[in-house]
Amino acid sequence: MSEIAASAASDFVFPPPHIPSVAVSGTPARFPVRRIFCVGRNYAAHAREMGRDPDREPPFFFFKPADAVVDDGTSVPYPPETNNLHYEIELVVAIGKGGSDIPEERALDHVFGYAVGIDLTRRDLQLAARDQGRPWDWGKGFDHSAPCAPVQSVERIGHPRAGRIWLAVDGDVRQDADLSELIWSVPEIIAFASRSMELAPGDLIYTGTPAGVGPVKRGEVMTGGIEGVGEIRIAVR
Ligand code: MN
Repeated sequence: MSEIAASAASDFVFPPPHIPSVAVSGTPARFPVRRIFCVGRNYAAHAREMGRDPDREPPFFFFKPADAVVDDGTSVPYPPETNNLHYEIELVVAIGKGGSDIPEERALDHVFGYAVGIDLTRRDLQLAARDQGRPWDWGKGFDHSAPCAPVQSVERIGHPRAGRIWLAVDGDVRQDADLSELIWSVPEIIAFASRSMELAPGDLIYTGTPAGVGPVKRGEVMTGGIEGVGEIRIAVR
């Protein structure tokens, strides 16, 4: 037995969890997920529908656990403790190269690729927490809360800056906007985040959702997409 195998058997009191990951287009290899950053209120019309001023205040972040990722084409269980599960279609940035204090001009060098994601939200729990000045985790970071379509590498699609972003429930379009409406751009978001925390390969950044968020119920199917990036299909069971 090799040294490595011997130590692997004795280093942990039980087998460590598997590494969460998402598919990558054009290869059987998967993108290992380290952390999931999410940006709040990054489209003006959505900030307004959430009762907030869309002024360009600095972007703010929250997290989901890495193992909240869900593959495209699957179904997610309706989560417990909510009567108001919401969809939020988002552009997801997949970080391929880490760093701290990344300048905006170099930020895109750190991107491995992009994906279409859905920031599933227990809106009732999130708003109750918000109004009481409590953390959003219970409303945002629950199991299966981060569906993510296959990552498209920068080599394949470049860096999308504009294009339609949309989501439909059972074929009825509910969100329909354009990536160019992002309040904070991808380079700005990377620069901001890396000032507070060292970014690392495997980090995903959900960049915020446009207006039109609303409920999705058991038995319904969410479809969505971003022009030039891809599409996603997730059912709720
Ligand atoms: Mn969101």
